[in-house]
Amino acid sequence: MTDTYLSLVNSGLTKEIAKKLGLPRPAILRRYHPSKPLIPGPVLVLGKGETADSLSSLLLSWDQDVRRHATPREKLGAILMVLDEAATPEDLGAVSLDAGASLRDLAAGGRIVTVSRPAAEAQDPAAAAARQGVDGTLRSLAHELRGGSTANGIVLANGTDASAPSVAAALHFLLSGRSAYVSGQFITVGSAAGEIPQDWNASLAGKTAVVTGAARGIGASIARVLHREGANVIVVDVPAAGEQLAAVANEIHGTALQVDITRDDAADRILAHAAERYGRLDIVIHNAGITRDKLLANMDASRWDSVIAVNVASQLRMNSRFLESETFSPDGRIVSLASTSGIAGNRGQTNYAASKAGIIGMVRATAPLLAPRGGSINAVAPGFIETDMTARMPALTRQVARRLSSLQQGGKPVDVAEAIAFLASDAAAGVNGQVLRVCGQNMVGA
Ligand code: NAD
Repeated sequence: MTDTYLSLVNSGLTKEIAKKLGLPRPAILRRYHPSKPLIPGPVLVLGKGETADSLSSLLLSWDQDVRRHATPREKLGAILMVLDEAATPEDLGAVSLDAGASLRDLAAGGRIVTVSRPAAEAQDPAAAAARQGVDGTLRSLAHELRGGSTANGIVLANGTDASAPSVAAALHFLLSGRSAYVSGQFITVGSAAGEIPQDWNASLAGKTAVVTGAARGIGASIARVLHREGANVIVVDVPAAGEQLAAVANEIHGTALQVDITRDDAADRILAHAAERYGRLDIVIHNAGITRDKLLANMDASRWDSVIAVNVASQLRMNSRFLESETFSPDGRIVSLASTSGIAGNRGQTNYAASKAGIIGMVRATAPLLAPRGGSINAVAPGFIETDMTARMPALTRQVARRLSSLQQGGKPVDVAEAIAFLASDAAAGVNGQVLRVCGQNMVGA
């Protein structure tokens, strides 16, 4: 599905008309490009202390131009606001106001990243207020940005410091085109687990991954991105989608497996296929999902039960099998598709929201089972993404849904796929039990 309005306000005469009329002007987002892994332009690092020094060194090791003070009118690619030592709300002022003074110099498609510690771990109320304050500042700032720029945060939990591989992985992701549709979000790094990849453009080299619901839409895009990052990919979908599934498998030199994930033997068939073809399974992406929308007053048991069965019950059953199987690597990664409907709720989607909120509960409760083995499980919660699923929405609702985000547009399947590839990488092992929204900072609900 193409967003014609987005194309119109970015070309010639219609661009000028939109400007004069003060209409929303969503920017064309700067997405992943192999030759430009990180957003171009100097990175201004604001804040003092060990974390600021350590992250500045990390950025220099990535050949970034690092500034510790703003140079008036110099265009910036990104601003890093290091606030991990904030002990009182007053401590937020200097870094926040310095960032504000440099905002006009942030180039289109620029990035802001905060670094802080969790309020829940603060020893005293003033520190908790300061840490929670970062949340409010970041989320508001993300709403203020234009030109396709984004603002996100990294939270250092459980005493993790800036040298943790997952801090580097999160920073690399947030400063790259791979996070183009992620804004107003925090990535919590809870341990020093993980390994920096030799090549950031091949973060899944040698891994074997399975993606369910991969015949089209977001699933097909996930399969492509995992392949691009170096993984062998098994694509799974229902037999009725066999032809499309085979086309995806051929395109990415992967293998196709026709199986309905609600079947009791679905996990065993996936494990047997992975064992036979690749000898192991390292990454599971639970993407297959359905909607059967109705107001609850008109809901019937078949709509309710089928959504729960496909979207969450199947995953619970399959995860139990994966975790007890020797084919699934001890440090395996699982990423599940949730939805912003599972966080904020959505009219007509009580069944779907129950299933997607269920995914969030499942991920949080499964994370401690995987952590001791070096594994992880996380969820990605897309907002409005341009796929067959959203193409079925009424035209006006679709237009409104697109504009109601800070980036004023729907996301693309690849935006969800990039976030999933990041969470599936070894470098992200310190991110566990989290939900990452890929929603352009959708303003509906939470
Ligand atoms: P889609 O309908 O385009 O594709 C879903 C795929 O899953 C299809 O190929 C379908 O055949 C497959 N599938 C359905 N039931 C299956 C089963 N029982 N066994 C195996 N495969 C099955 O959907 P999409 O928009 O690409 O969404 C992918 C995921 O992202 C879903 O979990 C969806 O809930 C979630 N999501 C999508 C959006 C969005 O805006 N499109 C937003 C939030 C969350």
